[in-house]
Amino acid sequence: MTSDPRYITTPLYYVNAKPHLGHAYATLLADTVSRFERQRGHRTRFLTGTDEHGEKIQTKAKEEGKSPLEFATANAKLFEAAWQAMGLTPDIFYRTTQASHVKLVQAALQQLKDRGEIYFAEYEGKYCVGCERFRTDQEWDAEGLCPDHRTPPVVRKEANYWFKMGAYQQRLLDFYRSNPDVIRPASYLNEVLGFLAQPLEDLCISRPTTRLEWGIPLPFDDKYVTYVWFDALLNYPGGLGYEGKPVGQNPGFDEKLWAEATHFIGKDILKTHAIYWPTMLMALGLPVFRHLNVSGYILMNSLKMSKSLGNIVEPVTMSETFGVDSLRFFLLREVPYGGDANFAWEAFVNRLNAELANGIGNLTSRSLTIAVKSLGGKVPAKAARGDAEAALLKQVHALPESFAKEFEAGRYHIALTQFGECVRACDLYVNDNKPWALAKDPAQTERLGAVIGTLIDALWTLSVVADSVLPNGMGRLRVALGEASPEVPAWSRATELRPEGSALGEVPRLFPRFEIPKEPA
Ligand SMILES: [Zn+2]
Repeated sequence: MTSDPRYITTPLYYVNAKPHLGHAYATLLADTVSRFERQRGHRTRFLTGTDEHGEKIQTKAKEEGKSPLEFATANAKLFEAAWQAMGLTPDIFYRTTQASHVKLVQAALQQLKDRGEIYFAEYEGKYCVGCERFRTDQEWDAEGLCPDHRTPPVVRKEANYWFKMGAYQQRLLDFYRSNPDVIRPASYLNEVLGFLAQPLEDLCISRPTTRLEWGIPLPFDDKYVTYVWFDALLNYPGGLGYEGKPVGQNPGFDEKLWAEATHFIGKDILKTHAIYWPTMLMALGLPVFRHLNVSGYILMNSLKMSKSLGNIVEPVTMSETFGVDSLRFFLLREVPYGGDANFAWEAFVNRLNAELANGIGNLTSRSLTIAVKSLGGKVPAKAARGDAEAALLKQVHALPESFAKEFEAGRYHIALTQFGECVRACDLYVNDNKPWALAKDPAQTERLGAVIGTLIDALWTLSVVADSVLPNGMGRLRVALGEASPEVPAWSRATELRPEGSALGEVPRLFPRFEIPKEPA
């Protein structure tokens, strides 16, 4: 195990809407990976937050009769409260309206202006209000609409400040070619190399205050505010104390953590993160992030059609109804990372019932119930174990290494499939060895102890390995196995054997069975 630190970030969520399942997916994933890295012994910081400037916020606030800051604050609090209600544990909740961020953005802009990376020029082009930017001629679909917003362009002529992004095209291409594992999964790297096969244009980084006031004023021209993406992306090093000043003049900046940054994003913001952001970092003299992990969409079309069930898919309601562990498990187990997933109730409920309630949940209750009823509620002696016991533990003890390998590569669904295979191996072992029959024969007590003791050791390993995905359930399982607290053990303890004669806790009911939600008649 290395001691490299880890810096895990979600996107800063744009506060023009309330938190939905898509936001929850990214945040749950980053929370899970942070837990995993911490358990593996890495110093880990996990940042999330809200992106609060821009035209859409200004417009929405006006519609609601609020100031932009009032409107943004109210929605930012909804995000913060949602993650708290779901038991997610970010170290940093970052807002782009916080004073330190405004200072950082202005310092970074001044630095780039001083170094000749920013210039002033007039431009006429096709502008998308939804994107809050000019799109190039190639960036409109066959009907002439913005492919992201399905709206027609507005022709605008404007003098603005520009960042010399085009000058970084070759450097960016070289970077991705020599670091092909930065963007994951690899299909998204191909998409980025596709963008970079076209000429890379300079980036307009200002908006005149005549049409947008809700932004960070340019430090060198108060008739302009900063383009919202140029402002928001700087949050990532900002969360680690970067002040936007030249390299070497940011004393509070945790550069070691920054060098290990992993950004989790959705594919809708691939271009801003894979093109704009690294060129900004290069211009500022900062290292480019270590990984850009890109997820697909959670498609909820079938749910949105349902009025009565629609509000259950609010992430907080869903966590209250099914448990955060269940939601987290489903999203990571069902969806191969990077792909789109169709969210359907049937798949959700069936997966939870098969792998949590009837899987690890049932294995726990049937093993520990016998231990309590027939073995005095203590971890039995290990001496009577034979080949079948050794074979089962060999398979289960191989899980930590393979699970970690898949997890680190972003193949969360495969890691959890391996977890499920180990649970099934334990179930088969139970069926083969019939502990319920052994329990009826006093002459078989030693044999019963060998069987149940082996299952207890296997459950311990499963509980340590799956903790980042099922922290509530696995914590309760460890208490049932005799741990004093549900606190997560270091990864290196995953293959420990439970001490003979130690007392077991109460038998828990870890995961309930669910019914597929039905429309009221
Ligand atoms: Zn658009």
